[in-house]
Amino acid sequence: MPTPKRKVSRSRRDKRSANKGLKPKAIASCQTCQAPIATHKICAECGYYKGVKILRTKADRKYQRAHTRDAVQAKVQAREASGTGSGDTSAAS
Ligand SMILES: [Zn+2]
Repeated sequence: MPTPKRKVSRSRRDKRSANKGLKPKAIASCQTCQAPIATHKICAECGYYKGVKILRTKADRKYQRAHTRDAVQAKVQAREASGTGSGDTSAAS
């Protein structure tokens, strides 16, 4: 197996590693909501990538949960309005 003829000096080694710095990341903006995102990544704000919905975001889940809750409450209120024998008037207000 070939081996280096001489030891690489501290100066030479450190000069080589001086070029291995961190480079600034490219930042793009989302097509749908204009939020700043990393390139070639799904937008975390709206869950879209290139105009296609990919991810369910926290806001989506929150909206759906509220929607389901409203539907259940409406159903309960409709049942209470139709049913007269319950006698629970305080909950209807
Ligand atoms: Zn977005």
